[in-house]
Amino acid sequence: MNEKHEFDLGIIGAGPAGYTAAFQARAKGMSVVLFEKDKVGGVCLNRGCIPTKAILHCAELYEEMKHSSELGINVKELSFDYRKVVERKDKVVEKIRKSLELALKNSGVLVVNFEGKVVSENKISANNELYECKNIISATGSSPKDFPNLSFDHEFVLSSDDVLNLTTLPKSILIIGSGAIGIEWARIFSAFDVEVSIVETAERLLPLADIEVSKRIERIFKAKKIKMFLSNTVEKIEHKKVYLSTGETVEPELVLLAVGRRPNESFENAVCIGDACGKIQLAHFAIKQAIEEIAKVDFDENLVPSVVYGCPEVAWVGLREQDLEEGTYKKSNLLISALGKSHCDNCSDGFIKILSQNGKIVGAHIVSKEASSLIQQIVIAMQNNIAIEDLKKVCFAHPTYSEGIFECLFK
Ligand SMILES: Cc1cc2nc3c(=O)[nH]c(=O)nc-3n(C[C@H](O)[C@H](O)[C@H](O)COP(=O)(O)OP(=O)(O)OC[C@H]3O[C@@H](n4cnc5c(N)ncnc54)[C@H](O)[C@@H]3O)c2cc1C
Repeated sequence: MNEKHEFDLGIIGAGPAGYTAAFQARAKGMSVVLFEKDKVGGVCLNRGCIPTKAILHCAELYEEMKHSSELGINVKELSFDYRKVVERKDKVVEKIRKSLELALKNSGVLVVNFEGKVVSENKISANNELYECKNIISATGSSPKDFPNLSFDHEFVLSSDDVLNLTTLPKSILIIGSGAIGIEWARIFSAFDVEVSIVETAERLLPLADIEVSKRIERIFKAKKIKMFLSNTVEKIEHKKVYLSTGETVEPELVLLAVGRRPNESFENAVCIGDACGKIQLAHFAIKQAIEEIAKVDFDENLVPSVVYGCPEVAWVGLREQDLEEGTYKKSNLLISALGKSHCDNCSDGFIKILSQNGKIVGAHIVSKEASSLIQQIVIAMQNNIAIEDLKKVCFAHPTYSEGIFECLFK
């Protein structure tokens, strides 16, 4: 090994955490080397946020077109070509990846496309070369979780990585786990007419959400004929037959195991950020941690919004109703159907719920088209401790979904 490379910062992993740290460090004039053993962009760009949303967009368009005649749009023979849906997803990912690679190059980050390992304090080895780095960040991400008795075979029991590579759709699928990944894939498969079942250990779907949000998603799923096995676990899988703890059995064509993600190896003598640190496994959390680490812009970990995509979107931040003691908070609710825009868009299912204490918002839970953007208004208000009375002074445009937040403030 020769020790010829010297850098202010060495970063292992080029996902959102790693590449954000790299850009931030370059902006401060630091010399940066970024190690990536796979593709830049990490899980988020290559196997997570972006590819799923690209497929989801097609699924939703197809779903919407099924009802287009109600809107005066007649389609003679509606059909889809899933292979092309996947090809488009790949193109979207590739386009963004190329932009990212170019941006890294233009900003002067040295990207080393090899596995990096911290071998001692201030030293990273990769491809038999040694890199001397004054500071080291470990941003190695996470991988799909399975269990000894319930493991991926990548043919029948698929991970969230495997499912992205399907080029044909099964007739039926059983999704194990109803977190964001499970819910989004249930929506995709269901829109493409796949028979979907979900097994969830908790007594409700999306167990991390506010109870009313879970209930609404259950109602929407029921209407879509998605079968839900709640308070249930998979005991075993034998000969493509899935045995549930309640004694029921399911015989799907495929199984998607989506029960969370395991942090990847991180290193001593390095600051760990992103999914690898095992806190909140979301891309925007990883990005904020990177900015905090390098640019020293802090953020409140209690105000990280959660979003589940699909129609309608689900988003929340802060405390849930079940976290609050009865009689200690005010609850303001607004049905999305009260908004003119929702009828124009033919998307009136959902609600906005704002929870407040002493005139300040402590939590908000939204099921609505554009919920992912709506929640940001609440985060800004909470982050800046803005009183509801002051928020009422803000002028909201009409017709919008944002008006729902405005109206909710007066409830
Ligand atoms: C299906 C799915 C959908 C998702 N949707 C969303 C969403 O909508 N919104 C959201 O916020 N989050 C979403 N996530 C989560 C999001 O992808 C992660 O939170 C995010 O990617 C974490 O970023 P990271 O930089 O910490 O790690 P990663 O993105 O996992 O990147 C880590 C990188 O490190 C590399 N690496 C690991 N070890 C080494 C090594 N020793 N040497 C060199 N390179 C190494 C890996 O190859 C990888 O590229 C989704 C995840 C999945 C799986």
